[in-house]
Amino acid sequence: MSERYDIAIIGSGPAGLSAALNASIRNKKFILFGTKEISNKLVKAHKINNYLGFYGKSGKEIRDEFANHIKAMNIEIEEDKINSIYSMGDYFALMGTKNNYEASSIILATGVNFGKPFKGEEEFLGRGVGYCATCDAPLYKDKVVTIISYNKHEESEANFISSIASKVYYIPMYKEEVEVEPSIEIIKDIPIEIVGDQFVSKLILKNQEIETDGIFILRDSISPGQLVPGLKLDGNHIEVNRSMKTNIEGCFAAGDVVGTPYQYIKAAGEGNIAALSAVSYLDQQNKK
Ligand SMILES: Cc1cc2nc3c(=O)[nH]c(=O)nc-3n(C[C@H](O)[C@H](O)[C@H](O)COP(=O)(O)OP(=O)(O)OC[C@H]3O[C@@H](n4cnc5c(N)ncnc54)[C@H](O)[C@@H]3O)c2cc1C
Repeated sequence: MSERYDIAIIGSGPAGLSAALNASIRNKKFILFGTKEISNKLVKAHKINNYLGFYGKSGKEIRDEFANHIKAMNIEIEEDKINSIYSMGDYFALMGTKNNYEASSIILATGVNFGKPFKGEEEFLGRGVGYCATCDAPLYKDKVVTIISYNKHEESEANFISSIASKVYYIPMYKEEVEVEPSIEIIKDIPIEIVGDQFVSKLILKNQEIETDGIFILRDSISPGQLVPGLKLDGNHIEVNRSMKTNIEGCFAAGDVVGTPYQYIKAAGEGNIAALSAVSYLDQQNKK
């Protein structure tokens, strides 16, 4: 029989780490899954000015601060990818690539999962390619920005960036009518490849090419319902209440995976709430 943890935290970004340090402070037996790199998205960020207390630091510097913090608290990251999780009633069975695990409660902090990336997307992530137009908008003052959008809700992001950039191309990947500022050029075509040298310079589409300084890809996430069968979703995100509780007893979620805005500080705050909620859940279970 495998060892039973009080809490299994899936994801080592700001949401997962924040959950882990609160689980540690509350003396719970927990396991944290992810990567020692912490979060690919954190490492790729140029400069982060909206995380309290770290003004002007790069994503790598903040990653190092996070790593030092968890090290000082003797928190280890288990480098295993969790492929599926099953609720077994009073505990969860987790199937990892390397091992299987058991935990009385779980916190899902997996970030937003993307579909198949465009050619050049990963290569230029953080070098002209981004996923949050609002976060990176100041970098594109008086520059040309292209937005590839999978959801009508993102039109507001395009409108916002058009007030900063010199030119905005908007490529809708959805069928609804597009309603954006008249200054935004709408292109109905299929993106194929992102190209550039040090930074992005061009987007190649099926029928044309456009010169651009930045490309935001605003995608919907792949359903986390695949990870935990029976999990209630709100669109492509996990549905939670203010205590970060999901519809499954003992299952909590935090960070990008529960919805926008996709921001470090929001993810960390939700990780804190999720851990405290998991602790009270465990305390209640123990009283039964
Ligand atoms: C280039 C770039 C710049 C950004 N700039 C800013 C900014 O300036 N300000 C800001 O507030 N936000 C910014 N963001 C957004 C920010 O990165 C996210 O909001 C934040 O990282 C979300 O944290 P998270 O913990 O929810 O998820 P993530 O940081 O995505 O972390 C999730 C972690 O979980 C791991 N994981 C996922 N699935 C599994 C699994 N099944 N098993 C094990 N591990 C798993 C992943 O490997 C990853 O390490 C930026 C994003 C990018 C890409």
